[in-house]
Amino acid sequence: MDEQQHYWVVTCKNVAYHQEKNPFALHRIRLAKTEVGARHRDHVGRFSVMCDDCGKQFTYEAPEVIMWIGPPVLFMPHPLFA
Ligand SMILES: [Zn+2]
Repeated sequence: MDEQQHYWVVTCKNVAYHQEKNPFALHRIRLAKTEVGARHRDHVGRFSVMCDDCGKQFTYEAPEVIMWIGPPVLFMPHPLFA
C-alpha cells in the first residue's frame, strides 16, 4: 500500500509555518487524485482551499495547480476537482 500516487495539488501559502516543521519541503495540499497524462484543469478559475495541515485558507488560481507524486492518504477531494 505504499505505492506512490499522482495528485493535483496546490502549495500552501503559509510557507513560514510549514518550513518550521520541515525546512526542505513545501506543503502540498491534495485536491484530487490524477494520473500521468491527465489534462490540466485550466478552467477552474479562482478558488479557495483550506490547508489540511495548518488550517489556513488561501485563494489559488488554475496555474498554481500542479501535478505531484506522493504517498496515498485519505483526504477529501476539492469539490472543483472531484
Ligand atoms: Zn498550510
